[in-house]
Amino acid sequence: MNIRDRILVVEDEKSISSFIRAILTSNDYEVLIAHTGSEACSMISSHCPDLVVLDLGLPDMDGMDIIASVRRWTQLPIIVVSARSFEKDKVRALDMGADDYITKPFGAAELLARVRVAIRHTRSSSTSPSIAATGKFTAGELTIDYDKHQVLINGVNAKLTQNEFRIVSLLGKCAGRVLTYDFIMKELWGPQSKGGNQILRVNMANIRRKIEKNPAEPRYIFTEVGVGYRMIEGD
Ligand code: CA
Repeated sequence: MNIRDRILVVEDEKSISSFIRAILTSNDYEVLIAHTGSEACSMISSHCPDLVVLDLGLPDMDGMDIIASVRRWTQLPIIVVSARSFEKDKVRALDMGADDYITKPFGAAELLARVRVAIRHTRSSSTSPSIAATGKFTAGELTIDYDKHQVLINGVNAKLTQNEFRIVSLLGKCAGRVLTYDFIMKELWGPQSKGGNQILRVNMANIRRKIEKNPAEPRYIFTEVGVGYRMIEGD
């Protein structure tokens, strides 16, 4: 018998928590609900969930404070649920240690994809099992060859520059998750890297010209407006 993953949903709006519960339960997850921040904090320590789906606007405390307190003692994956108008909140939540976010309103498929990625990611520490085994990341016609430091489209070298390769390589290792501009800059250019995201944007425009059929409608690397970039999940 499989042990089901246990998910704690922290949400004060009953209609949303029942919606989330229905989706997760029918996909074989065990679901617990907390309606307040203090309930959430005590359930995280007493029920040891495998993942938390966290609404930021709670009646008794700010979801950000929950992220901060959880991150002091566990890497338990946290997916933030937020309203579209608060890009700054999303960035802050991700930089504070949330694993991902979902924008309200959202659909079942999107929620399930985010949950799957976040749980898998914690199981495999930093690199997906398929990359660890083969040295390659594949999604459709795109292949990142980590050993040869190449990105291939349909088996043909896309001839990325060193910096372009480093960006694609990082996104591939975290495929399915959004990485903030700030996170990418710090990972690639060190903690002192500052200034805007201009260098990143310029590189991304070049990457897209080389790997996407239509750079205006990317199929591999998506822009999360005001937040960062997300690589499509691997095959
Ligand atoms: Ca709320």
